[in-house]
Amino acid sequence: MKNYFFFLVCLLLIIGSCADNGDTDIGTTTYDVDPTFEPYVQEFIAEGAKRGHNIDFSDTGLRIEFSETALEGASGLCYLGEHHIIINKENWFRFSERFRSFLLFHELGHCELDRRHRNEQFSDLTWKSILRGSPLTGIQDRFPVSFFGFRKDYYIDELFDPNTPDPEWSKVQFDYNESLNRKNITTKENINRLNERYTTPLNQYELEADFTLLTAANTRTRVEWGASGLSYYMYIIPGWGYYVGVTLDNLDNDIFYSNNTTLFNDKPIEKITIRQQADVTQIFINEQFIFHLDALPALDYYQLEATTGDAFDTSFDIERFELNELE
Ligand SMILES: [Zn+2]
Repeated sequence: MKNYFFFLVCLLLIIGSCADNGDTDIGTTTYDVDPTFEPYVQEFIAEGAKRGHNIDFSDTGLRIEFSETALEGASGLCYLGEHHIIINKENWFRFSERFRSFLLFHELGHCELDRRHRNEQFSDLTWKSILRGSPLTGIQDRFPVSFFGFRKDYYIDELFDPNTPDPEWSKVQFDYNESLNRKNITTKENINRLNERYTTPLNQYELEADFTLLTAANTRTRVEWGASGLSYYMYIIPGWGYYVGVTLDNLDNDIFYSNNTTLFNDKPIEKITIRQQADVTQIFINEQFIFHLDALPALDYYQLEATTGDAFDTSFDIERFELNELE
C-alpha cells in the first residue's frame, strides 16, 4: 500500500515538473552539489566521457541535496527537467558504496540524460537497465539490479545508450556435467551446520553440499563463501525464493533473485554447487546452472547454516559436503 502511494507521488512529481519546464531556464545553470555526492558525479562524468558524452553541467546546472524526510519509500528522486536530485539521508548512510553509485547513476540517468524507467528483463531475469523503477508489477520489485562486477560495464553502456546490444553474460550457460579433474580436499557427512576455514588458497575449486531444505516459513538457509571483506552468499526463503549477492562493506548486496524454489528437477532445493574456474564463479542448484559472478580473489571460508527465527536450527541436515580442488 505504501509503495503504491509512492508511485502516485512520484508520478505526480514527474508530470508536475515536466509540465512546469517547457520554457524555464531561471537559475538552472547553478551547480550546487552536496560534497558527499561529488565523487559519484565525477565518476558519472568520466564514464560518460569514455562513451563520447561531454558532460559538465555548465549548460543546465545541477543540484543534489539530502532530504531529511522520508521520500515515501524511495531512496532518491529526480525532478525531471530541473536537474535536481534529492537523496534520503537516513537511507544513504545505510548503503554500501556499490549501491550509492548505482543510486546516483540511476538518478542522473533521469536528470541529466532525460531517461525514464525501463522495466525489461533478460531471459535470465536480470534487468536490462539500471533505470528499472516504478511502476513495478507483481513480484518485480524483488529483483535487484545486477550492477556489480563484470555486469557493470554493460549497465553503464546502456545508461548512456539504450540501444546497447544484449550482453553475453545474459545468455551464458554452464554445464553441470562438464568433465572436471577433482582433487578432494574435504568431505563431511551428516552435520547440521558448516563453518569451514581454509588456510591454503585455492583458485579453482568446487564446493558442493547436499541437504534437506527446511521449509517452515520463518526459516532461512544461507550459504556464504569467500574472504572477509569480499564474499558471496545465497539465501533461501521458503515460499518466496532465493537471492544471490555479494557482501561489501559488511553489508549484503543482493545481485540476483529467483522465485523458483521447488521446480528444479521437480524437487525442492537440495543441492548447491559452487565452482570457481577460468575467472568465473558458477552457481548451480540441483545440478542446474543458475547464475555466475566474477571469480573471488580468495577462499578463506565456507558457511552453510539454517536459522529459524533468530536461532540456528539444529534439525538442519547436511548429508554431504565436499570441497574439491579443480585441476
Ligand atoms: Zn527512477
